Amino acid sequence: MNFVILDLEWNGAYSKKAKKFVNEIIEFGAVKVDEKLNILDTFSMLVTPQIGKKLNSRVAQLTHITEEELKDSNTTYTHVLKKFKKFLGDSVLLTWGTSDILTLMENNRYYLNDEKIPFMTMYCNLQLYCEHCLNHHDKSRQLGLSTCAQMLEIDVDGLELHRALDDAKLSLSCFKKLYKSDIIKEFIEIANDEFYRKISFKNTVIYDIRNPLIDKKEFYVCCDKCGRKARRKTKWAMKNRSFRAHFRCNRCRRDFEGRITFRLKYEGVTVDRRVIEIPKEKKSEKQKSFFAKFNNSEKEK
Ligand SMILES: [Zn+2]
Repeated sequence: MNFVILDLEWNGAYSKKAKKFVNEIIEFGAVKVDEKLNILDTFSMLVTPQIGKKLNSRVAQLTHITEEELKDSNTTYTHVLKKFKKFLGDSVLLTWGTSDILTLMENNRYYLNDEKIPFMTMYCNLQLYCEHCLNHHDKSRQLGLSTCAQMLEIDVDGLELHRALDDAKLSLSCFKKLYKSDIIKEFIEIANDEFYRKISFKNTVIYDIRNPLIDKKEFYVCCDKCGRKARRKTKWAMKNRSFRAHFRCNRCRRDFEGRITFRLKYEGVTVDRRVIEIPKEKKSEKQKSFFAKFNNSEKEK
């Protein structure tokens, strides 16, 4: 079994035909490895954009790809996709996080009227695998590729980050440091209909406290010092994606803020609970910011 790590660069472009913004792929970069992660082959191709001829300044700055280069490459998306199909063969396709695979699906939908990647049989989210290996379980903060490389003390000298092939190579370096042939198998998914339903499912935060998907029994917070259920002192209020209220732990004699976020995911509703210390100097902070604003507006005059 071989692996192909794919990385894409894309440019946000407005399509008059679709009447919306499309993340138009401008570069494919991939590296193919065998079961021992020895490099067998690499793939690097630019795609001449059809939707947006102008590159966003952010994309141009990040990738250093120029509009001339893209024009000169004179290759359409469907052409590059065909070449990539050959390159992939029956290997497992890996991407860092889901945004590359979702963008590939978005481009397929736009150019081929079908979001599925018909030649892909198996897929693996390398970011999930590395998060698992590094015990990174903070679901609200995904592990970025460069952060992971730093954690694993990988030397990035000589790599041009934010170019597709080099990002794919960097993903491979992370993979190499954490590779266990038996564990990776558990992260490989068969690209069937359920896979597409799951990967395109948009997680949402539940904002309405009366939403029937929320189990009322989930509205509790435990003291993070002693683990006991704390007593709620104020009404629940929704702020920045979480329900918040003040709590008191009678045993530890301390007050804190409890925050609960409900997320609707493909697998169902997940609950995330947090305990936040209430800052003591809240009032004076408010006064400070008032005076700061006051002073600034004075300066503007
Ligand atoms: Zn306590």
